[in-house]
Amino acid sequence: MSSLQAPANGATGGADVVPDSGSPFWDESIETLPRQELRRFQERRIADMVSRVYEMSGLVREKWQAAGVTPADITSIDDYRTLVPVMDQDDIRSYRHRRQDPFGGLLTRPAEELTVVGTTSGTTGRPTPLPYLDQNPTRWGQARDMWMIGVRPGEHVVRPLFVFRGGHFADGSLDFGCVPIYVDHSPLEVPSIVEAVQRFQATGLFLLSAPLINGIDEYCRSQALDPRTVFASCRSAVFGGEPLSDRTRSLVESWGVELFEMSSVGDICPTMECSEHQGMHLWEDLALLELLDPATGELLPEDATHGEMVVTSISDPATALVRFRTGDIATVDRGTCRCGRTHVRVKPMGRAKDGVVVAGRHILPISVWGAVEACRDTERGLFQIVRASPTMDELNLRVGSSGPEERFPAVAAEIERRITAELGVPCAVEVVPDERLLRLGPPHKIPRVVHA
Ligand SMILES: [Zn+2]
Repeated sequence: MSSLQAPANGATGGADVVPDSGSPFWDESIETLPRQELRRFQERRIADMVSRVYEMSGLVREKWQAAGVTPADITSIDDYRTLVPVMDQDDIRSYRHRRQDPFGGLLTRPAEELTVVGTTSGTTGRPTPLPYLDQNPTRWGQARDMWMIGVRPGEHVVRPLFVFRGGHFADGSLDFGCVPIYVDHSPLEVPSIVEAVQRFQATGLFLLSAPLINGIDEYCRSQALDPRTVFASCRSAVFGGEPLSDRTRSLVESWGVELFEMSSVGDICPTMECSEHQGMHLWEDLALLELLDPATGELLPEDATHGEMVVTSISDPATALVRFRTGDIATVDRGTCRCGRTHVRVKPMGRAKDGVVVAGRHILPISVWGAVEACRDTERGLFQIVRASPTMDELNLRVGSSGPEERFPAVAAEIERRITAELGVPCAVEVVPDERLLRLGPPHKIPRVVHA
């Protein structure tokens, strides 16, 4: 059976059989599919999908009926892009509230068929339930991702885990015999993480966040451990949760470990860097990606390279994530990657609503990251934009410091100077102890934009 023909290819996450360990590809025929064929594949998936989601998803039916669209109207990707209404988190929340449906009208299978209910991380609001069948796109995508970064059967991977998103259940590397070692995702667990890596000669870490990386760095210093020795068996570590800063990447690489950034689009489809580190591959046999103009919300042409991501989960048997407006701004590259894969590469820039306009400039958290990290006391990159109103004359930042309190005024002045020089906007910085900001985390990241 070709893996092009079925939405669920059994427990191997897309490949018909586990490939030879020397192959860089988990499923070469899919991962290197020429883009024209990939588009035809997506078109077939959408044709298969529209009747099912219209029939089974209450929210889809409601939105389409309001827009006067029926499945019969959708005969191509062009029809799909121009006729099907977009949905967003507010639509899902509203449906959940009105209909007392925990899945917000997205579930397309009977609830008793579900294997796991996970949730989103809830950084910016109440967590949203995520329904999973035994076979699901997150699991298929993760199998491919883990293979892509070099994890192979029988290897041990230390997995600092959080329970949201379905916990270990979405771990596609189990499908090819990778052996996970679970620990809690908490800076308090750093000694256990270090011990597990050494005891089991782990070859990988999945998944690290900035609080964990800083915790490991400090623990190694306090125990006079050389991270290169601690992580000698470890080839790769995966980072996720928020944008990866240059300082965090180089810190992990100083341990002799290659760091791979991962994220997800719309909480359903995982994205992961390959060894080229030129953006994260989004598997387009699992998801259709579209871009909107961040300022106007208008649909951008198919070859656009920057915008707000709209995603459709085209292979998910359980959830009708149909033209879901993610609120995430990204740049995308559809050129064939040097790794040989043809699937689009995504570089997230931040949340659309996290943008603030200061003195006429649109500023995202990523715009100030470098200036904060450049100061030694604030190199952990713990900061928040404090938004008094959507447009401001001055950029207000709250920044966490690991240094002594008497240096706070000088640190504030230094960051203000750097930001004004880099961005050309006035800036006012409040420096607070790191701990005050870390307490706000869920715990792998902190809210980057808060209201005054
Ligand atoms: Zn690549």
